[in-house]
Amino acid sequence: MNIDDHERFRRMTDESLAGGIADDGERLLREHLDTCTGCREYHDASNRVVAGLRGFSFEADASLNARVLSSLRRSAQRGRRRWVWSSAAAVVLTMGGTLVDLRFGDLMASVFDIQRMQVREGLLTFWIVPSLCVLMLFPLLPLLGKAGTRREERI
Ligand SMILES: [Zn+2]
Repeated sequence: MNIDDHERFRRMTDESLAGGIADDGERLLREHLDTCTGCREYHDASNRVVAGLRGFSFEADASLNARVLSSLRRSAQRGRRRWVWSSAAAVVLTMGGTLVDLRFGDLMASVFDIQRMQVREGLLTFWIVPSLCVLMLFPLLPLLGKAGTRREERI
């Protein structure tokens, strides 16, 4: 067997590892590898390199996935915290407006020399109703936030 034959089998080894060769080619290669130490060593070494590359790409994917997952989780947590604080603020504002109306409505009416009902209307229009609107808006905010995050990710 001359040098070119071994060269041919080593090329077949590459092709076999890269994606497969025809069955009879594979059989010829196996037969040659059983009898030729040089080509078997080449085959084993190539096999290790390919296996190593596969392991490497798997590892890179796994750590990338973990990073992406943890950053997603972090941003979701941030969003939830923000949402809780804003909801709490809206509740406090709404209750505060109602309390001001109940406690200081008469006082304000006398200070500004207006009717008690006008104070209540003013508070309702400029404080309580806007607070309530913001409060009712909050169930929608996580959805809007999600849409915003999706937009950011696309950029
Ligand atoms: Zn050989």
